Amino acid sequence: MVNEETIWAALAEVADPEIPVVSLVEMGIVRGVALDGQNVTVTITPTFSGCPALHAMQADIVTRLKALGCAEVRVETVLHPPWSSDWISDEARRKLKAFGLAPPPPHGGHITLTFFDPVACPYCDSTNTSVKNSFGPTLCRAIHYCHNCQQPFEQFKPL
Ligand SMILES: [Zn+2]
Repeated sequence: MVNEETIWAALAEVADPEIPVVSLVEMGIVRGVALDGQNVTVTITPTFSGCPALHAMQADIVTRLKALGCAEVRVETVLHPPWSSDWISDEARRKLKAFGLAPPPPHGGHITLTFFDPVACPYCDSTNTSVKNSFGPTLCRAIHYCHNCQQPFEQFKPL
């Protein structure tokens, strides 16, 4: 039975290709679902326009929704308004932290303020940390170093 509810439930099972512990819905990437008979259009806003995972994301959505019984699946990318790390759910923030990725602090639009705030280490919660490199393995992440437990860790940048 395909309806908006089952579609959202199916999308909640599609993992973020970059961070497989969280789903596209939890990350706030899926913005909308429009159903027309058995055809569905999913609107997504990628976390960062440079993220190379976009094609994987679109393919995963199409595969999952066709398996659910949708006839045609269209994935539309919307870049305005740009994705905000404020859209990450609380549950996803906990999962990111458990994954060793410091979640971005909610900023309410004041990114420059939070960008200079000390970032809490996901392992020991110490804020005695410093930025090592503002470009991690992907453009979405920054590498920090914890002076307390002496471990490098990544932070999902506030956007
Ligand atoms: Zn630490």
